[in-house]
Amino acid sequence: MIDYKLHIPGPVNVSDETYQAMSTPVMGHRSQDFVALYQSCQPNLKKLFQTEDPVFLSTSSAWGVMEGSIRNLTKKKVLCCMCGAFSDKWLDVSRRSGKEADGLQVDWGRNIDPGELRNQLSSGQYDVVTLVHNETSCGMMNPLLEIMEVLRDFPEVISVIDTVSSFSVVPIPKDDWGIDVILTGSQKALAMPPGLALLSVSERAFARAEQVEGRGYYFDFLEFRKNHEKGMTPSTPVIPLIHALNHTLDKIFKEGVEERHQRHSDLNGMVHAWVESKGFELLPEKQFASKSLSCVKNNLEIDLAGFVDTLRREKKISIDGGYGKMKGKTFRISNMGDESTDTMAHLLGQMDEILPRFMAS
Ligand SMILES: *Cc1c(COP(=O)(O)O)cnc(C)c1O
Repeated sequence: MIDYKLHIPGPVNVSDETYQAMSTPVMGHRSQDFVALYQSCQPNLKKLFQTEDPVFLSTSSAWGVMEGSIRNLTKKKVLCCMCGAFSDKWLDVSRRSGKEADGLQVDWGRNIDPGELRNQLSSGQYDVVTLVHNETSCGMMNPLLEIMEVLRDFPEVISVIDTVSSFSVVPIPKDDWGIDVILTGSQKALAMPPGLALLSVSERAFARAEQVEGRGYYFDFLEFRKNHEKGMTPSTPVIPLIHALNHTLDKIFKEGVEERHQRHSDLNGMVHAWVESKGFELLPEKQFASKSLSCVKNNLEIDLAGFVDTLRREKKISIDGGYGKMKGKTFRISNMGDESTDTMAHLLGQMDEILPRFMAS
């Protein structure tokens, strides 16, 4: 039994109201009831994605549509912007999908440099770029607007932007910034259980997909579009999560999107202040620090495993002790989803109480 609260950067804590919304009885996925549910989500989704393009619902985790994007869009070669665990993985996934791919690699925690991207694209080899907006493994947020300004000069290159841990945390005006494919997942900032991916695809990207062979079926963008026009998904979707989505969208617009962005920024600021007050440091440079989570260097060399474990066992709160090769060297704290000043203050207070026990003597 889970008797602790999640403050890891995904999956994040799910509210009782969201769980309740999921217990609405299922219906046939070709029924008018389903069409009504699907259609009722669309206006809010378009507003939240800031787009006139359709927003598709995929029954998969985000990786499904990440791989799908590669398969739908690549004729020549993919350039993968690599700056952490999720963005690095994309090179591997592209090659496993049978596509030619190169990486534009920087050290974990550093941002992708728009000028460097321009240099790479100038070779004319690439027709797809993948970018993780908010690299969750490092708590680093890339300068997306500056990157999109570079991409504007390469009309042949389709942009695929992973906003899994930044969507609804900061403004990302898809159409204004010219993003072709934007994708996210249910279990991070949207604070739903895992299992639903959301993506919006531009006309340019559909035009490319029409020229690409081997798109497969399950993640075929053209299949998604054909079914979307009827208010449906290509195959039987995870209906309980679509009820949860409908509920979540209502909640987001009730709070207000700008208010939601401000709340995330304020809560993130509370964590940053705590980090500084203890003498810790953030992994990324401050100007590129994520607004949805904080990745903190273990520069004080505390017994990190002991700290994380004790916080969970005694204080019933779970934070993350470092992703992959950064285990023990960094820790990560999420302020995504439904967190409030009270819940963040509680977390920081509980960490305060136990921290002295794990300081190096
Ligand atoms: C969590 C995460 C993913 C992977 O999502 P899955 O739901 O596990 O497929 C991809 N990209 C980023 C930035 C993430 O934070």
